[in-house]
Amino acid sequence: MTAYDTDNIFAKILRGEIPSTRVYEDDDTLAFMDIMPRSDGHLLVIPKTPCRNLLDATPEQLAAVIATVQKMSHAVMVAFDADGVTVQQFNEAAGGQEVFHLHFHVLPRHEGVSVRAPGTMGDFDLIAQHAEKIKASLA
Ligand code: 5GP
Repeated sequence: MTAYDTDNIFAKILRGEIPSTRVYEDDDTLAFMDIMPRSDGHLLVIPKTPCRNLLDATPEQLAAVIATVQKMSHAVMVAFDADGVTVQQFNEAAGGQEVFHLHFHVLPRHEGVSVRAPGTMGDFDLIAQHAEKIKASLA
């Protein structure tokens, strides 16, 4: 498998080299808003330590990330009065992965509402408002 690229976008976000809208972090993980949300409240959870995806992650990285995915799933259920949560995770280009730092997508969902098509940049102010709702539900 290709080696971890320390200049991937999420590594730069972790180092604070490019901005992100952070909603939660602990010693091992970071949760921040997806810049192209496929549902209102779409966020990403990543480990703070490097790994490309599920295929090279350690059990410790996976355990930390999935615990935060569960925490954030509860948070978006409350923040958006959601009916459910979709969790997605892609591995390597053939598996649909575009950013090569392990990440899980967390999307609050409502009955009868489809996710939006990928690739459309979200409204920054709206994403910021959604982040505040998520942070409030964690408090
Ligand atoms: P995947 O690798 O799982 O296919 O998708 C990567 C995800 O990262 C996409 O949902 C995309 O919208 C998101 N993304 C790509 N670049 C950035 C960025 O610079 N900032 C944030 N917050 N999200 C990004």
